[in-house]
Amino acid sequence: MTSEIISILGYFNDSNYYLINKNTLVDTGTGEFSDYLFSKLRENGVEPDDIELIINTHCHFDHIGGNYAFPNAKIAVHRLDAVSMRNKDTLGTGGSAFLINDGANSRVDIELEDGDEISGFKVIHTPGHTKGGICLWDGENLISGDTIFAGGGVGRMDIGGDYKDMKNSVEKLLELDIKNIYPGHGPIVENNGKDHIKLSYSML
Ligand SMILES: [Zn+2]
Ligand SMILES: [Zn+2]
Repeated sequence: MTSEIISILGYFNDSNYYLINKNTLVDTGTGEFSDYLFSKLRENGVEPDDIELIINTHCHFDHIGGNYAFPNAKIAVHRLDAVSMRNKDTLGTGGSAFLINDGANSRVDIELEDGDEISGFKVIHTPGHTKGGICLWDGENLISGDTIFAGGGVGRMDIGGDYKDMKNSVEKLLELDIKNIYPGHGPIVENNGKDHIKLSYSML
């Protein structure tokens, strides 16, 4: 069984936000536009307090910045990216996400590993954009963070990333029969996800 994924496209420089099964949020944006995110959640019948779990695809500021707006939620991120958050490392997170809220978004409650199951998804460790970047996979849908974008894009590799890692990660994704892709930025891919992964691989 696949999960219900509601896509909320990122406002301005926020990452996209994905609402799963009405109680889990994948990525929270920069934190500057939490009011916008709240209004979108409410449009879907979800109060911010209903969010029990936040999964961050990686530690960059435009994905974790809004975590502080959900004090009741548990925060899950890959073990290797948890380090940058806990250390409030502005270099590793690509920006000063911690300055606007006294570091309240540096909290990590659950450290993820490759192969873990969470909210009906399998965690796939896909380093390359960051050391601890992950994709979430439910057998049909791939939430890809900044690893893969629509149209054959891959995430930049100059903020804690690595080209060789990226190539291996995309190779790993090629093995999956991906229907839909929910990337960290830009449009969603419906139905021919695998073709977009192939295109990304050919561009590396
Ligand atoms: Zn991003
Ligand atoms: Zn990123």
